Amino acid sequence: MEKEIIKQLQNKETPLYYYDLPLLRKTLNTAKAEADKYRYKVHYAIKANNNPEILREISKLGFGADCVSGYEIEVAIQNGFNKNEIVFAGVGKTDKEIITALNCEIMTFNVESVQELEVIVQLSEKMKKNAQIALRINPNVDAKTHQYITTGLDENKFGIMTHELDTCLQIVETSRFVQLVGLHFHVGSQITDLNVFKRLCVKVNEWNMWFYERGYDIPVLNLGGGLGINYSEPDKESVVNFAGFFQLFDEFLEARKNQEIHFELGRALVANCGSLISRVLYIKNGLKKNFAILDAGMTELLRPALYQAYHKIEKVEENSENLAPEKYDIVGPICESSDCFGKDVVLQKLKRGDLIAIRSAGAYGEVMSMRYNLRQEFDYFFKE
Ligand SMILES: *Cc1c(COP(=O)(O)O)cnc(C)c1O
Repeated sequence: MEKEIIKQLQNKETPLYYYDLPLLRKTLNTAKAEADKYRYKVHYAIKANNNPEILREISKLGFGADCVSGYEIEVAIQNGFNKNEIVFAGVGKTDKEIITALNCEIMTFNVESVQELEVIVQLSEKMKKNAQIALRINPNVDAKTHQYITTGLDENKFGIMTHELDTCLQIVETSRFVQLVGLHFHVGSQITDLNVFKRLCVKVNEWNMWFYERGYDIPVLNLGGGLGINYSEPDKESVVNFAGFFQLFDEFLEARKNQEIHFELGRALVANCGSLISRVLYIKNGLKKNFAILDAGMTELLRPALYQAYHKIEKVEENSENLAPEKYDIVGPICESSDCFGKDVVLQKLKRGDLIAIRSAGAYGEVMSMRYNLRQEFDYFFKE
């Protein structure tokens, strides 16, 4: 971090979310350029980060939006996304949310069950509004990621069970307002093994053929998101290998010439541009451990407590004196033992007041913050 920025941070109250906008733009531009090579369309998964500054950067560059609630649809539109480039996913869409989406005339509902499809049919009839839908198919591909962020297995709650696809087709056939325009897949998040996406392609090819053989030339294949980032080396690999990702689909996906290919990326676009900046409140020397107690906790960044996620932890300013490194458990102030950002973290000796950066917190960070313990609201710093 530049000296000038460190100085500014030292004068700010903590905790705060720090966003590196030049890095965000570089990431977005790279993703866009690589996707454009194959005329792929990328929708940004708003749930990863809905900070308006971030949303406007993303919508400006021509990304669509992937929303998982009615209010996300409204926020997307408020922040510059085109309503006809919005897709709406989620296993539990309420009637009110479906009505919002119909009124906004979004591009596609990613439908996750027969029951949901029936409600969309009823509401579209009642409102006399067209609804384009994609069927979310659960391809039974193991994302090989944390069990809480694996979504594409038969035992997961997501997507339509494949034995119900015929029923879905019958329902669509009889509806005047609902149109089947896409097949949708999303197998999980933080996927770093690209072989997972190869296996996904194999399944998508099979389902694409299944529909084609039944006379459905589906215009859109939506491959979802899930591309992971390197949490251990946020500086070495600050921008994800989008070239390799899209090239894999170009190689393994057997789409017909007229078919559009869509993606829904969240984490890969925004994770690395964000850090949670916090101050050391106390150094507590336990019998077995040293604890560095921060003024940020699971209330600001939940991922470590929620799924033992790893975030790189750094001292913002290394002291010039040659302080010996020490081992710390870096913990927050909340009375939960899971309120811990890292165990046995080796850092140059810490003292009260030192600034700490918890890296790669741009995705599923700020959005998961909460008011537990009636914590004070945090501040922001945008690097321009
Ligand atoms: C969360 C989600 C995404 C984005 O996942 P990332 O891992 O952040 O890329 C895309 N599509 C759907 C349906 C999702 O639920």
